[in-house]
Amino acid sequence: MTVRTPAKINLGLSVGAPQLDGYHPVATVYQAIGLYDEVKARPAPSGDVGVVVSGEGEQSVPLDEDNLAVRAARALADAFHVTDGVALSLHKTIALSGGLAGGSSDAAGALVACDALWGVQASRAELQAVAAGLGSDVPFCLVGGTAVGTGRGERISPVLARGSYEWVLAYADDGLSTPEVYSELDRIRAGETVDEPEVSSELMAALRSGDPYSLGLCLNNDLQRAALRLRPSLARTLDLGDEFGALGSLVSGSGPTCVFLASDEDHAVDLAVALSSSGLCRSVQRASGPVPGARLVT
Ligand code: ATP
Repeated sequence: MTVRTPAKINLGLSVGAPQLDGYHPVATVYQAIGLYDEVKARPAPSGDVGVVVSGEGEQSVPLDEDNLAVRAARALADAFHVTDGVALSLHKTIALSGGLAGGSSDAAGALVACDALWGVQASRAELQAVAAGLGSDVPFCLVGGTAVGTGRGERISPVLARGSYEWVLAYADDGLSTPEVYSELDRIRAGETVDEPEVSSELMAALRSGDPYSLGLCLNNDLQRAALRLRPSLARTLDLGDEFGALGSLVSGSGPTCVFLASDEDHAVDLAVALSSSGLCRSVQRASGPVPGARLVT
């Protein structure tokens, strides 16, 4: 079984004050973009769950129970009393620790692939419930498209969104740790009153209109100032996108990937060339969105 599973970006990410358990409530608008990892699931002896990884960042991806795809396979087997094993292979295109939910996307892909391999035939709601136990971004990676996430991001509701958008992604040399970025945000906000997280009504209106110019004006990420504090060089990358006419620019999720909205495909090519030749980023990719979530391709 082969599944293609997309990266996500956050068009808006509002972060509340940490709760007693340390987690931050969020209100976010996710969009799945056409940049995919591939998850293959092949039969294996009873109880065996193994993984091999190739592609982007392969040497840094854990091959044990810390791998989110392995955890997803085990969680599905536990939930549906499956005793069969699985040999997973991941081919990664989504940058590691880039704020693009690569690991979560692999987990969503593994759920879909193992469901098919083992003949579980779980309903969408059942898969969503297993996904929510694996990580905040996993339920969205199953659904894809454009959606609001609340709670820790795992409570997904659909968004009325029109149009397709052209994005340019600029990768930094090293990843940023999501927990460290949240801790930095807490340090920056110490002493400030932090509002309940909410999705901006301007952002929802822009998505309803399908107008990229309106959308570009209301992209927002509360984690951006923390990511910039930890990685000041990202400010120059964001500025460069603005200089080359990006309709909007922001750090994706916890960063350090910077995301730029282009007015159309030609503009996206120009922006990508400008960013690549600047020497400010490790590499640059283009992707359009929204696209569907994790889907079987064979
Ligand atoms: P998010 O935006 O969801 O916080 P991210 O995109 O910044 O995540 P990931 O690429 O998902 O980051 O990886 C974060 C860490 O998760 C990695 O450093 C790695 O150790 C671990 N990890 C576990 N499973 C995977 C996987 N299948 N692919 C990539 N990383 C994984």
